[in-house]
Amino acid sequence: MPNAFLQTPVEYLKGVGPQKADILKKEMGIFTYGDLLSLYPFRYEDRTKFHQIKEITADLHYVQIRGRFVSVRSIGEKRAKRMSAIFRDSTGDIELVWFQGIKWLLDKFKGDKEYIVFGRPAQYNGKWNIAHPEVEEVSDENTRLANAMQPVYPSTEKMKAKALDTKGIARLLKPLAGLMKGRIDEILPPEVMLQMKLVTREEAMSNIHFPSSQENLRKAEFRLKFEELFFIQLKLLKLKAFREEQFKGFVFSSVGARFNEFYKNHLPFPLTNAQKRVIKEIRNDTGSGKHMSRLLQGDVGSGKTLVALMAMLLALDNGFQASIMAPTEILANQHYETMSAFLAGMDVKIGLLTGSVKTAARKVLHRDLESGALDILIGTHALIEEGVKFKNLGMVVIDEQHRFGVEQRSKLWKKNIRPPHVLIMTATPIPRTLAMTLFGDLDVSVIDELPPGRKAVRTLHKYDSHRLEVFGFIREQIKLGRQIYIVYPLIKESETMDYKDLEDGYESIMRAFPLPQYKVSILHGQMKADAKDFEMNRFVKGETNIMVATTVIEVGVNVPNASVMVVESSERFGLSQLHQLRGRVGRGADQSYCVLMSSNKLSSDARLRMNTMIRTNDGFEIADVDLRLRGSGDITGTQQSGELNLKIADLAQDAQILQYARNSAGAVLNADPHLDKPENQTAKERLAELAKETTNWSRIS
Ligand code: ADP
Ligand code: MG
Repeated sequence: MPNAFLQTPVEYLKGVGPQKADILKKEMGIFTYGDLLSLYPFRYEDRTKFHQIKEITADLHYVQIRGRFVSVRSIGEKRAKRMSAIFRDSTGDIELVWFQGIKWLLDKFKGDKEYIVFGRPAQYNGKWNIAHPEVEEVSDENTRLANAMQPVYPSTEKMKAKALDTKGIARLLKPLAGLMKGRIDEILPPEVMLQMKLVTREEAMSNIHFPSSQENLRKAEFRLKFEELFFIQLKLLKLKAFREEQFKGFVFSSVGARFNEFYKNHLPFPLTNAQKRVIKEIRNDTGSGKHMSRLLQGDVGSGKTLVALMAMLLALDNGFQASIMAPTEILANQHYETMSAFLAGMDVKIGLLTGSVKTAARKVLHRDLESGALDILIGTHALIEEGVKFKNLGMVVIDEQHRFGVEQRSKLWKKNIRPPHVLIMTATPIPRTLAMTLFGDLDVSVIDELPPGRKAVRTLHKYDSHRLEVFGFIREQIKLGRQIYIVYPLIKESETMDYKDLEDGYESIMRAFPLPQYKVSILHGQMKADAKDFEMNRFVKGETNIMVATTVIEVGVNVPNASVMVVESSERFGLSQLHQLRGRVGRGADQSYCVLMSSNKLSSDARLRMNTMIRTNDGFEIADVDLRLRGSGDITGTQQSGELNLKIADLAQDAQILQYARNSAGAVLNADPHLDKPENQTAKERLAELAKETTNWSRIS
């Protein structure tokens, strides 16, 4: 086994008894030497730099000063007793205090010697002091430089209780770094090492913990980030290559009658250039004999549905059936209605299959699907899972499913000996780096243009104290014939607190907007599906003025007459969610508004989210800010799915390294598609090892 050393159980390390081992496992998932070595410092204290006393400010986590003791004395009585020293450099004095070990310290510091003091500055009565600093005599400059960059490790309360604070962790890693010398095998192909000018794995692992210089630290970081991203890309690209090799795609050789008829006679408006480009990309894929797996990214309202429809017509023209899968019944219904309207007067048979379709009707659908009498089937998830049989399904469109992970996607392909072309449409734009990582096995199309003539939604931020003013505005809009959404946060569908927010909100809305003048709908996750549909349909048909809801309405619903989106407690929403919600309005000809309500107390992150929403309507820009604020692990539920568990790379910052990693992985696979060459064996083994790690349930303690 390569790198057997790294598989050594962490208990074998000197200083790790059963208790510490247990804490390391539970708190950090550290089972082996390798795990411990990949607990990376999150910052470093630079011990080569000295601060001047007069320059100390509140933003410094720590300071290092070089100077002499002017006085050392004990002050106070009994419990208040402490030792106070005045330390001086060429720019001023600072007080150093100790509350323990006083007797021993009193004689320790000599006035004629030079010392280095290190610690966290604090202000007391307007003066700076440092409590319990580290003090050492200036003597051996070389050892100082060797310890130039001190690692600071993440730790938890439970770890600290077992002496596993940052220092405790460093005390374990120091000897481990010694032990590993000569025992860390290289896992990247030599070609890649050379081309990217990477330091060896061993050098990187050593320097990431105990950097011998800034330069070496930078090289170590680059190498480890590259390695992490390289193997993700290698996995994705290998999967993609495997799929393309394994499955021949159905060839849609002609653009035929129905596509052309629709384009010439039924299209209600000219396509945007972006829509045209994407349709071309789909045509190229499906005409080539390759199996299409394409991700379609486009902001809310950019017209993805129409692109999907035209892609499906391509399938029909070549003798195949097509299908579109939506995440909810409401959306499936809506697609059914939209597509039926688009195709009115054309010879295309569309069916709708959801949980609500009665047995008799379902039987007819099944029969027509198998005989080929039905061209397009629209439905929910159940569509592929229920053993629904198509005569010849050639194209599947999956709508609003950015939570569909790699694993689920591969299930889709495995279902069929010869799988249909797949077009996945995301509801929310995601930054390029994230798309490359989460959907790196797919080809990506982007609609980066909204249909002309849209009025941008105006976004306002209002404190709760201005609620009456907002209610007044809502009344005006209703008088103009518009409809209003009022959305309450819901973190988990079952959380009683959130539910209460909604109930209270609903009651206060009913009081402020009484019958018979106003009619209010309510929608939340705990309602039965048919009750939900009933309420939603009342709103869609314009029978109610206000829709009070939780985020269940977040995805996809289209009510062009709704012109105001009020988001309650908006500080509790993430940016992409806010953007999704805002996308529910601005779909008609009227000026629309998004009102973000919040309490007066806002964290700086919450304030940045508000300001971002007010500043821009561009989903891609919003996604970038979101990524920077939350980090990649947190975006779009990827943390739960465990798909993105990056230890060192940061998708918000390392776009360039990611691109290098993808290019390198692509080049390696180009030259050696199955990784058969001897020089790629270690990389191949590493891939297998990583695959095991993600599915190793025994590691969950
Ligand atoms: P999304 O990308 O969010 O799914 P939709 O496909 O629902 O967006 O499109 C939003 C609205 O824009 C729909 O009412 C649709 O009919 C309309 N639309 C789509 N393409 C165009 C276009 N090229 N010109 C004008 N309106 C368009
Ligand atoms: Mg849509």
